[in-house]
Amino acid sequence: MAYNGVIYRPPLEADTFLLPITEGCTHNSCTFCNMYHNIPFSMLSIADVEGYLREARQSYGKYCDRIQRVYLVGADPFALSAKRLLERIALIRRYLPHVKVITMYARTDNIANKSDDDLSALKEAGVDDLYIGVECGLNDVLEKLNKGYCADETRAQCLRLNAFGIQHCDLLMLGTAGKGRCLECARASAALENEIRPHKILLNTMSAFVETQLDEDIRQGVFVPATEKELLEEEHEFLDRLKLPDCYFWAAHPLDVVKIEGVLCRNKQQMLHALAWGIDHLDKASISRTSRVGTL
Ligand code: SF4
Repeated sequence: MAYNGVIYRPPLEADTFLLPITEGCTHNSCTFCNMYHNIPFSMLSIADVEGYLREARQSYGKYCDRIQRVYLVGADPFALSAKRLLERIALIRRYLPHVKVITMYARTDNIANKSDDDLSALKEAGVDDLYIGVECGLNDVLEKLNKGYCADETRAQCLRLNAFGIQHCDLLMLGTAGKGRCLECARASAALENEIRPHKILLNTMSAFVETQLDEDIRQGVFVPATEKELLEEEHEFLDRLKLPDCYFWAAHPLDVVKIEGVLCRNKQQMLHALAWGIDHLDKASISRTSRVGTL
């Protein structure tokens, strides 16, 4: 099967079976993102999805029976209607009968577009561990980043997921509020996360990638990025304020200056020490860098 989209998957899904079901992003307008430029959102036909699963079964035979987790590829495959998702999950179960968890990226508006009955049926079908692009807890910042939803909407939709027992892994970014507002942002983001109670948090650092609006905003002086020191202080403040003992915290992206990960009830102090050490000891050149232009 030919898949024309690019594939980005969360680092924690490195060992997961990847199944393409969509290409591109329904929003494709966040100022910091160039991941799906020139890739319009589209859905693979049910025949193509079945073709991919059949090919996997033919290639890997009985090893397919060991697969317990499937990651649905695309920026926000949760945009598909519950009916379409359930049709695809039924196919997955036909070809990979021992799958327990179906995970994928979901935007807040994807969840808002699902009824309570939809969420209940999707949970029943094995949908869990949805990756949500929370980014940060400040409404005005999310508006400037053109995220397409605010923190209040994410709060409401994640609480709906919680009510149906659908766990979520929240993705947040350091530096979204720019120079001078890092601590304010850390406090708002921690308050939001403490309320919506993800079971995993993935944190990375916002970067000005080429050909993004953010890159242009920095050139024009519309957005002034925080220094690395401010970013580490934001991360320290955010982590320090989290009250989620069972939550797994991952901040080890190549864009992160200090790489840390662990379960908060066991590793929080150790991670805070690593960040404090970074704030005090990283060399002056890297600690005062303000933005990196490149691509993922
Ligand atoms: S950050 Fe996510 S939601 Fe925003 S444009 Fe990129 S892929 Fe789409």
